[in-house]
Formats: sequence, structure tokens, C-alpha cells
Amino acid sequence: MSRLLLLSCALALGLSTHPVHAQASQRAEVADAAQRLQDKVVEWRRDLHQHPELGNRETRTAALVAAHLRALGLEPETGIATTGVTAVLKGGRPGPRIALRADMDALPVTEATGLPFASRATATFNGETVGVMHACGHDAHTSILMGVAEALVAMRDELPGEVLFVFQPAEEGPPDGEQGGAEEMLAQGIFKDFRPDAVFGLHVFSTLNAGQLGVRSGPTMAASDRFNIVVQGRQTHGSRPWGGVDPIVAAADIIGTAQTVVSRRQDISRLPVVLSFGAIRGGVRFNIIPDRVELVGTIRTFDEGMREAVFADLANVAEKVAAAHGATVVAKVPDIEGTPVTANDPALTARMRPSLEAVAGTGNLVDMPLNMGAEDFSYYAREVPAVFFFVGATPAGQDPAKAPSNHSPQFFLDESALDLGLRAMLQLSLDYLHGGS
Ligand SMILES: [Zn+2]
Ligand SMILES: [Zn+2]
Repeated sequence: MSRLLLLSCALALGLSTHPVHAQASQRAEVADAAQRLQDKVVEWRRDLHQHPELGNRETRTAALVAAHLRALGLEPETGIATTGVTAVLKGGRPGPRIALRADMDALPVTEATGLPFASRATATFNGETVGVMHACGHDAHTSILMGVAEALVAMRDELPGEVLFVFQPAEEGPPDGEQGGAEEMLAQGIFKDFRPDAVFGLHVFSTLNAGQLGVRSGPTMAASDRFNIVVQGRQTHGSRPWGGVDPIVAAADIIGTAQTVVSRRQDISRLPVVLSFGAIRGGVRFNIIPDRVELVGTIRTFDEGMREAVFADLANVAEKVAAAHGATVVAKVPDIEGTPVTANDPALTARMRPSLEAVAGTGNLVDMPLNMGAEDFSYYAREVPAVFFFVGATPAGQDPAKAPSNHSPQFFLDESALDLGLRAMLQLSLDYLHGGS
């Protein structure tokens, strides 16, 4: 059915004022707000870009966000999960509750874009002085949500329902020994007083061109878990292996057999799984068989059941293979709790697709492939129905497959993504709030 026909049907049915379903075209108030806020959002983004801060250190960013929300007449709460900021907007009419999330942290990356507003900031990370850059585009996420807040406040009187704005720190992970990010925001109760019916988040992404939006139903980004396996043998002379227990050969067999955990035991026709070893540590000299070997690595999964099964199978392989060599093992699989799968609620995704398509234009909403990276938005999505979508960052005409990716020192954001991101988040919010929970 053509759009025109859909629209005329809706009009004929008298549904034109507050449709139950998402609109097939961009709302006029979205276009107006985007027009009005465009320059401000670009200005905020450039300022944040020039002043990036690492996870749990976003004090300047958080102060800027809080000051903006206060200036809008909201009453922000600050200092949540170290530097997080939230605020609730109550609409003038009854309706559902939504949460909109942006992350504020930058990365220990030395910027090499050559932009006039490129970062020259440095910070201490793991005891070293490092460059700091918004190499993942969280400067865009923060400025877009500041713009969305301003737009929604301006519509307050006619707005049905309530909106919780969530500006969180440390999406990329807190510094060693600290808590942080989405998990900590929830632990500090941001969804306790305000239980949203839905939560929305976005990410600017190099693998899409500016002008494109991307979304996927169901599992979207992987669960990311680390493991640590210590194989304990007994030290001996390299010329007399029978005088001890060789943990190097045992570790080699563990690595080999671990390959079957994915290739022989998981249904990879359903969803992919990745298990990679990242480091092997053991031994000091060519003629000493050492006492112990440590293996560390990462596991990526898209399903909670598969995740648990891989944990159990890898621990089992480590224990049984080590035992076959007469060695013992301490297998921490995982060693610390990792980030869960980021899964979009299928019903909510289906409902919101037209909203995304309405702002991007027909043909510009891409079905995203599974992404092996992880996102701590997953913690919110575990609590309430969620949609996490992607906004193209690579300038039109450039091959996004060859563009410097997020986290690269050359990561480049086409600033038209700010406008599209703002319109997408606004349209999504208004369609949902007007449509009821
Ligand atoms: Zn990132
Ligand atoms: Zn990111």
C-alpha cells in the first residue's frame, strides 16, 4: 500500500490527530524542532568533542548536561554512578513512561582526525598518560539527547506521559577497581522510582553512511565475557620432563580442545559464537619447564543459554584436559561478570520501525547484521522492552566498509548524523507516547 493511500485511510477513519500506531511520515513538530536546534546540537557536540573525558571522570560533561537540563526547568539528579545525570519530564497529559539514554564517556585514544575542534586532551589511564578522544561518538549521543530534551520540554503541555533522560558514564567500562556504567546506574535505582514502559538508545556507527539508520529485531550486539584459566603443573628441568608436570603442553591441549566448544557443541546455524584466546603467560627460560601457565581470552554470544553452555563447556575442557596431563587447573569462566546480550524487543522493534523509516526516508532504514561488539545498554534492555538503533556516521559517497571504525583515532562523524539522530529519537519518543504503552 502506498503511503498516500495509508494516509488517506487514516484520515477517513478519523485517526489523524493521535494515531495508535507510529506515523508513516515525519511529524511536523519533529522537523520544526530539528530545524530550530540544529546549530545548538552541533555546537554542543564540538565542545564535548574538544573536551573528552574518560569513564567515571565525565565531570565537565555532566556539569554541562545538568546545567542545560536545569535551564530547561527540569530538576536533574547528579552524581549517579559517579557522574551520571538523570531528569524526568512530566507531560501535560496522561500517558506512558519512556527512558531515553545517552552515554558520555570518551576513550584513551589519541585523536588523528585533523579537525579544527580535534581533542588535544590527555589523561592518566592505567598509570600511563594517554590521549583522550570521543572515538566512539558518545559526544554525538550526549548532544543529541540534550537537543531531544529541549524539544520535548517545549512540547510539554500537549505531551502525553513522562520521559526519563539518562546520561550515563563509563559505557566503555569503568577504571579498574571502580563500578560504573549502565549496570551501576540501575544498581543505584534509576528505574526504581521511574519504571519505564520502554527504553530507547542510539549509537553513531561508521559502518553506515550518513543519512542511514539501522536496526535489528532480537539479539543485536553480543554478550562479552572474559575468562582466565591457570594451569598448575610442577616445575622441572627442560631435559627431564618426567621429573615434573608440564603445564605448557597441558595448556596447548586446552587451547586446541577449546576450539571444539564452539565448532562441535554450539548450534552456530542459529546464532554465532566466538571464543578467542588473547594471551598466554608462562615460563622464563628455554630449559625450565615452569610451574604454571595462564590463559586469558574472550567469549562472545547472542543468547543467554548459549552463553551459559559455553562457560560450562570451556571450564569442563580446561579441567578434564589438565587432569589428563596430571595437572590441575583454576578455570574462571567468566572471571568477572561481563556485559549481557543487547537484545531489541521484537514487538517494540516492529512497532517503532515505521518511526525510524519516517525520518530516514524509504530505503534508508538498514537491517543491521549481528554485531560482535558489546554495549552496556543491554542492562536497561534486560529490565524493560528496548530498541537500540544505529545512526550512520560515514559521509555519503565514502565506502563505510573502508571508513575508520568507531574507536579508531581517525573515526569521523558526518555532522548531519546529529540532525538525523535527533529527529529519529524525537519521532520515536512522540510516536510511542502518543500511541500508548
Ligand atoms: Zn565504544
Ligand atoms: Zn560506544
